[in-house]
Amino acid sequence: MTKNILLIYTGGTIGMVYSNTEKCLVASDIKQIIENIPLDALDINLSIYSFEKPIDSGNMNYHHWQEIAENIYKDYQSYDGFIVLHGTDTMAYTTSALSYMLQGINKPIVFTGSQLPIGSLASDAHTNLLDAFKIATLEDKNNIPLFKEVVLCFHRKVFRGNRITKSDTQNFDGFHSYNCPILAHIGTEININYNEIHNNSKKENEPSNIKLSKINNSNIAIIKVFPNMPKSSLEWIITSKEIKGVILETYGSGNITTESWFTEKLKLLIQKETLIINKTQCNKGYVSMGNYQTSTALKQIGVISAVDMTFEACVTKLMHIISQNLDYKKSIDLFKQCISKEYTLLTKE
Ligand code: ASP
Repeated sequence: MTKNILLIYTGGTIGMVYSNTEKCLVASDIKQIIENIPLDALDINLSIYSFEKPIDSGNMNYHHWQEIAENIYKDYQSYDGFIVLHGTDTMAYTTSALSYMLQGINKPIVFTGSQLPIGSLASDAHTNLLDAFKIATLEDKNNIPLFKEVVLCFHRKVFRGNRITKSDTQNFDGFHSYNCPILAHIGTEININYNEIHNNSKKENEPSNIKLSKINNSNIAIIKVFPNMPKSSLEWIITSKEIKGVILETYGSGNITTESWFTEKLKLLIQKETLIINKTQCNKGYVSMGNYQTSTALKQIGVISAVDMTFEACVTKLMHIISQNLDYKKSIDLFKQCISKEYTLLTKE
């Protein structure tokens, strides 16, 4: 059956052109993307929504996330699937944000982009775009969409959207999902990782309970620890009235120095009801506070584990939570909750 697909174009390299005046790649309109979609071969009804001014994803902010989410939400029932074309630089933030903003979905929301513009010879854009169409229209034998979540389709792989990180600026294989298996490999056939997507499948073609929620507060701070860190580096966060959440990027399994000044400063933040998240600087593996002396104090004072979440999933989850204006206890509980499969449940914390 012909599928109804909404394609949302935000910008990014995929649609960029070289500007002779600026001497660099700049975002361009959707025209050349449309010219490269083989509509006759695809058997789809395609609707298009384009950002009025397509952007380099370095300029993405939560207003843009809202624009994408609202466009999906608004006519959700009219479509079988959604494709979002997006720059690769902040792709992982947008896919993560959307996974919290649009909960209860039962259709694919497929993000893609490319490392070279669609107009360049030997660009990866054509493959990524066509693969995105395949994934957005894929069904099981009961005609139920196989992917019912936010995913990234890139370089012949399908990833869970809130588990990805841009890991390579040069090669076409630009994304990695360190702590979550790939959902599908696309070759001559599409190999689906049913173990990974199974829990996500509803038995029947149930109506969705789609819920749209906002992200409109980005008052968070990042503290990346390093040896010989000056005491003064935390001062601005402690005196700030706006900061509601902090991501502490720690060593290894969630460790910091045992020098007491550091924990004392974190305690001051907790007294001010600031959410403090312990996120390891390692890409692979998870936080396990209490394994070493260098993390027991963090556990005792009430720092929250990010388990094996990506940095991007942490940042957007924290923004999502502080945007809900919940009380401190509820905010902590919500951060600990696995909202959209953003972390692995089997770990210790
Ligand atoms: N700077 C570009 C962007 O994120 C890079 C890309 O799309 O690959 O929009």
